[in-house]
Amino acid sequence: MTRSEELFREAEQVIPGGVSSPVRAFRGVGGTPPFITRGEGAFIEDVDGRRCIDYVQSWGALLFGHARREILEAAVEAASRGTSFGAPTEAEVRLVERIARMVPGVEMARLVSSGTEATMSAIRLARGFTGRPRILKFEGCYHGHSDALLAKAGSGVATFGLPDSPGVTPGAVGDTFVLPYNDLQAVGAALRAGGASIACVIVEPVAANMGVVPPRPEFLQGLRSLCDEQASLLVFDEVITGFRLSGGGAQALYGVTPDLTCLGKVMGGGFPCAAFGGRREIMEHLAPVGPVYQAGTLSGNPVAVAAGLAALELIEGLDPYARLKAVATQLAEGLSATFREAGMPVTINRVESLFSVFFSDGPVWNYAGARASDRQRFARFFHGMLDNGVYLPPSGYESWFLSIAHSDEDVDRTLEAARKSAARL
Ligand SMILES: *Cc1c(COP(=O)(O)O)cnc(C)c1O
Repeated sequence: MTRSEELFREAEQVIPGGVSSPVRAFRGVGGTPPFITRGEGAFIEDVDGRRCIDYVQSWGALLFGHARREILEAAVEAASRGTSFGAPTEAEVRLVERIARMVPGVEMARLVSSGTEATMSAIRLARGFTGRPRILKFEGCYHGHSDALLAKAGSGVATFGLPDSPGVTPGAVGDTFVLPYNDLQAVGAALRAGGASIACVIVEPVAANMGVVPPRPEFLQGLRSLCDEQASLLVFDEVITGFRLSGGGAQALYGVTPDLTCLGKVMGGGFPCAAFGGRREIMEHLAPVGPVYQAGTLSGNPVAVAAGLAALELIEGLDPYARLKAVATQLAEGLSATFREAGMPVTINRVESLFSVFFSDGPVWNYAGARASDRQRFARFFHGMLDNGVYLPPSGYESWFLSIAHSDEDVDRTLEAARKSAARL
């Protein structure tokens, strides 16, 4: 038995499924997750001494790779002055100023500790601001695990959401409409039918939790116009795309400005720091200025804020996006060629540096398309890659995450591993 297998057995005795978040348990691909001891740049090492090129990068939180010096130094320096005060600090102001400078839709923001909190709070604020109960989301878009957003059931025409999880009551998702991603006509119909009751439309501007699914060319602009028509708010969940697709996120890339923006992952530099922000007029409905309550003991935590600030400073200093995109393009093209040579149908969706591999024919524009891919084949590919020293997200529904630490040599090694793995699929 490997040390990871031993630890996983122990873990399963005291932690449900042995993990602190379900996807880590490898249920999507089978086998035992490696227990990680350290990370450095593009690499992680496990308790059995195995070293892998890491394309999870803490699910996209690490744009600069593991243990990036500037981020570590900022965090250590902050921690040495005290790890939490529950009182305001200057660094919070500087972090939010910087976010507001970089992200077009953010004039003001409130700091929280996770993406889940950011989306949950944005929804509450949208409801409080508009005085309307309903929200509209898209099938296959993930917005964290708060009750109202844990619904993706429903197909064809707008249906009221059904809960995805026991424990989420029908009442909690009864005001959540779920529509297919990229289906502007369905959004138009739903908004026109229920416009006066719909507080907001929440969307991943590039979907990255059903594999990567880009918005159709007119989709985001169409959402903007439809929301304006009905005075519903447009909420971009940029927890993945924010500071990953560009310094201004997907909204800067596509030139569509939402009313509210949710941020997380990259903006914490690998620490628990997230935010939601938007137009001043809306944000000032939050307590204590306005009546919409939202709070957090560790919100704006000084260590996390220092790390986040260091990450955003690195972004402004290094402008990493051209390099990230070039690496992603090389990987996507290399993988595509490998699978085609092996005679396997494959669709690789890529937007800037975000990409994922679907083992299926034809384009993938929504959740139904994503589900049509061969997940058994992905599982075999995943283990082939792991055996060859490449750690991919352990699910066919996840994006690969690059960091600026991934070198050309890492790309070559990854493509070599893919050739070996493809031969066994
Ligand atoms: C990860 C993610 C979330 C939730 O963030 P947590 O920090 O895991 O709570 C929300 N929305 C999107 C798009 C995400 O990818």
